[in-house]
Amino acid sequence: MGIIFLKQGLSESFVKINYHIHTTFSDGSSRMSDYCEAAVRKGFEEIAFTDHLTVFPDGSSSFGSLDRLRLENYVKEARMVCEKYGDRLTVRLGLEVDYIPGNEKFLEGMLGSYDFDFLIGSVHFVGGICIDSPRHRMLMEKEIGKNGFNKFYSAYMRLVGKAVETGLFNVVGHIDIVRIWGFTPSNGFLEEKNVLRLVKQHAMCIEVSSRGLRQPVNSIYPSQRIMRKASELEIPLTVGTDAHSVEEIDYAYDSLINYVKAFGYNSIAAISKRRIICKGIRLC
Ligand SMILES: [Zn+2]
Ligand SMILES: [Zn+2]
Repeated sequence: MGIIFLKQGLSESFVKINYHIHTTFSDGSSRMSDYCEAAVRKGFEEIAFTDHLTVFPDGSSSFGSLDRLRLENYVKEARMVCEKYGDRLTVRLGLEVDYIPGNEKFLEGMLGSYDFDFLIGSVHFVGGICIDSPRHRMLMEKEIGKNGFNKFYSAYMRLVGKAVETGLFNVVGHIDIVRIWGFTPSNGFLEEKNVLRLVKQHAMCIEVSSRGLRQPVNSIYPSQRIMRKASELEIPLTVGTDAHSVEEIDYAYDSLINYVKAFGYNSIAAISKRRIICKGIRLC
């Protein structure tokens, strides 16, 4: 799984890519074709569908997630729109896959037969608490009230590290979404560094996401501290809005690109059949 950096034309080219989109196949409210229409209208060069695959260690799927049958239909539909819009837009086939310790075997079984462009590995569950669910917010705050946010943050980051170590994924999704409700870690840097070191070792990308700008934390994921370290390690970045409807397809997109550039990046990653190609972004 090599990484190619396209050096030529860096100052002129501008790529508009959204690599994190949910459709009606999981918890999104817009259809694949609606996203394609919107993407063409708004000048996107590439988008990727990344619906949820949330499989628990007992093999059951979460409500709102793809299951075996829906996964098959999802892939079929994605191939159809890919064909239909192919002359105007590149459509990548992806998934946002939950890492939950013990679910690896089921994931391998379900994913094995499909030819995905890339898989986002995300951690949404820490010890049974779904960290980005408003219904679980009180549970999470209770836990943090008892043991402090630093402890919770470290536990989350260790899970992200384990997700990376499975070797199943190409991108780490919203790497510090655990800050969602407005908490900031006062340490945890060692755990972050360890995760980024593993990401580098596995030739993966991390995602820069505007999702946090629509959440109480009101911040792009990842934090500046993580971005500085990622830049130092030259870890490629994907860009996504975590869209759940067409209205979110370019949510704060300029802010995302400016954020990426502020840390010295002049390219973002495109991924085809698990192969990362870094494309230049405008430097002005
Ligand atoms: Zn997510
Ligand atoms: Zn998502």
